[in-house]
Amino acid sequence: MTITGLWWVLAGFAVAIGLCIGSFLNVVIARLPEDRSLLPGSACDSCGAQIPIWRNIPVLSYLLLRGRCASCAAPIPASIPVVEALGGALGFLAWARCVPVGPVDLLHAAAAFALLGFLAMLVAASEIDLRHRILPDELTIYATPVLLLIVAVFDVGGLHMFPFPTWRSAVVGAGVAGVGMGAIGVISSLLLGREALGWGDVKMTVMLAAFLGLIPGAFVVLMLGSMIGSVIGLGHLLVTRRRAYLPLGPCLAWSAALYTLFGDTVFPYVFPNIQFAAGW
Ligand SMILES: [Zn+2]
Repeated sequence: MTITGLWWVLAGFAVAIGLCIGSFLNVVIARLPEDRSLLPGSACDSCGAQIPIWRNIPVLSYLLLRGRCASCAAPIPASIPVVEALGGALGFLAWARCVPVGPVDLLHAAAAFALLGFLAMLVAASEIDLRHRILPDELTIYATPVLLLIVAVFDVGGLHMFPFPTWRSAVVGAGVAGVGMGAIGVISSLLLGREALGWGDVKMTVMLAAFLGLIPGAFVVLMLGSMIGSVIGLGHLLVTRRRAYLPLGPCLAWSAALYTLFGDTVFPYVFPNIQFAAGW
């Protein structure tokens, strides 16, 4: 097999892993806000029947079952195959982002799977925040030390590529994000007399900074996230004449995903004064 052929085979493997992660994400999105166990595997929401593994093939099973439970024929939400397919797409994007076409080495392949895990966390955080208006600690502050460790291992191991920061940038970023966003939260709630910035958003920013570093990482994600939130909020106000409640968490998650996937190709045009390269 040619070297490029092998790259594509492994890219297909990354898509398959992404599809399975997408399937697991559906479980996480449904159960994490309710503090239910993530194991054992999937069950039907209507009749509770366990879903055997051969009926739990991402996307394909939904199509074969025509969107209905095999036991009770209750409709399966369309979000299930959508999240599965999204996982598969993110698997390919993470692979293409981290592994240059050519001979595949272990360090870059590992980076691709670390990025895929991070993107999967963003999908879960965004979906849960949209549905329940909470950001579970498991996806934010508890994940922070794990992400710091991953960044440190890659940095020490010699991986110096976008979007991975140096471990120093990650540690400083997490600290500055925590203190800075915490202060903004406290001050704005004192001034406004209500909670303007939830602690979930503060912890989310700390988690993002731990994986993306301070500059450009966390800084650009905050800017872009606020911009996305403002545009959606303003659009909603103009169309419906009513103020929308839009949690900050999903906007941060989307901008972090855009940053990691397109940060060094598209963002330099949007933020021309920021150096988009592995920093200090
Ligand atoms: Zn059922």
